[in-house]
Amino acid sequence: MPRRQGHPAQSAALILLTCAIFAVDAFTRLDTAIAVMYIVVLMLAASAWPRRAALALSVACVLLTMGAYLIAHGFTLHPSPAGRALVSIAAIGIATWLAVKCQDTLDRLRQRQDALRRSEAFLAGAQRLTRTGSFGIKVPDASMVWSEEAARIFGYSGDAAPSMERVLERTLPEDRAAVREAFGRALACEGQIDFAHRLLLPDGQLRHVHVLAEVSRDEYGDCEYLGAITDITERVEAEQQLHASQIQLAHAARVSMLGELAASVAHEVNQPLTAILANAKAARRWLGRPEPDLPETMAALDGIVQASERAGQVIRRIRALARRADPEHRQLDLNALVTETIELLQRELERAPLALRLDLEPGLPAVVGDRVELQQVLINLIMNALQAMAAPRTPARLEVRTYRDGETVGLSVRDSGPGIADADSARLFEPFFSTKSDGMGLGLSICRSIITKHGGQIGARSTPPGSTFHVELPVPQEAHAHEQ
Ligand code: ADP
Repeated sequence: MPRRQGHPAQSAALILLTCAIFAVDAFTRLDTAIAVMYIVVLMLAASAWPRRAALALSVACVLLTMGAYLIAHGFTLHPSPAGRALVSIAAIGIATWLAVKCQDTLDRLRQRQDALRRSEAFLAGAQRLTRTGSFGIKVPDASMVWSEEAARIFGYSGDAAPSMERVLERTLPEDRAAVREAFGRALACEGQIDFAHRLLLPDGQLRHVHVLAEVSRDEYGDCEYLGAITDITERVEAEQQLHASQIQLAHAARVSMLGELAASVAHEVNQPLTAILANAKAARRWLGRPEPDLPETMAALDGIVQASERAGQVIRRIRALARRADPEHRQLDLNALVTETIELLQRELERAPLALRLDLEPGLPAVVGDRVELQQVLINLIMNALQAMAAPRTPARLEVRTYRDGETVGLSVRDSGPGIADADSARLFEPFFSTKSDGMGLGLSICRSIITKHGGQIGARSTPPGSTFHVELPVPQEAHAHEQ
């Protein structure tokens, strides 16, 4: 309950005024209900004094009115002055009742005002802490309001008035079209607005913000937007750093994988070189004859050209695996990627007796992805399968399959190794989980992060004898629509 503490001078003035009214009422012969003047005193007291004091004053006024009557007329009943005194007492009673009600209403109003001020302060504090500002846009006239934090996010002082021009002024030029478009949709009242864009502040600082606004209706049924704008710079930068370190890690793993595959890589490069050498020797032989055989020489030279092109291709692919480059997402034929990878791993596959089965579904729709990263996943799964089958227990069988499953394209690698222990299955894809004495335990966790970035899923299950690792990648919408 708010406290009223009348100023001493004001209280003294009220008491004096009360006495003056009493004196006029008791000692003059004015023919009016002078005591009604007490109402003025009561009203002033109600606004300055606590309720008890105001009530006490009201009782005092009633007593003074009666006292004045007794002084002026004694105990005899004079209808007219007695009537005036009764009117005054009734008026004082009603005024007191009204004043008390008014005090209650004022007290409640003040309480609400205090609560509102407190909650505004909490809200402002919470907005500062969460770096989230609020705003509103009235649709017919595009008038805007925003909170102090929203103004600060845009790099203005807290009391700057919001406007579309101010928002655009701080928006990164490349993102202005998107912001204009979102604003246009808001002005057409086209439903929820949810988008992220960047700000460029006058000091050169780049900020990432996320805007979320919902449609609501004001009391006239007009469309208006209430929304929040959050400064997500820290989150975006952390994500960018994470992304960069994931790329670095994947690259480091690829390079170390290439080291492990040195024999296969050498074999891949050697194959076209051997063909070039054989064709060159043949061409020399055909030319060295007493009568040079030109058609045969030409065929040998064609062979050299083809083998050189193949060598170039092999080197380009191996270099792509070794190079550190940002992933490039393109349309890819998964079957071609499998065939190419099997060629690269030929030597590894030839090391031990192994039955290899390729089961590639023809006519698979293209997937969108980074060739190098997806190849890294496939190499990892095949190398793990080969390592799992290294101990000569059962005949080694490796099956690589591609398939279509609804709106996804799948790839599975099945081996006849020892399978996956129940206790391990939940941890296979965790970083640094390895059951190998020389294992780093990063391969599968890198595979998972690559596949997740591609919008797909990777999993493993025991399929006795052995285990099956499977990857599902989404078929792009256009390819899906095109097929239908
Ligand atoms: P690393 O090969 O360095 O151990 P990975 O992340 O590639 O790291 O594999 C993690 C673990 O998953 C392996 O140590 C192994 O226990 C298990 N694993 C992976 N592939 C297979 C497989 N084909 N069969 C059985 N276990 C497997």
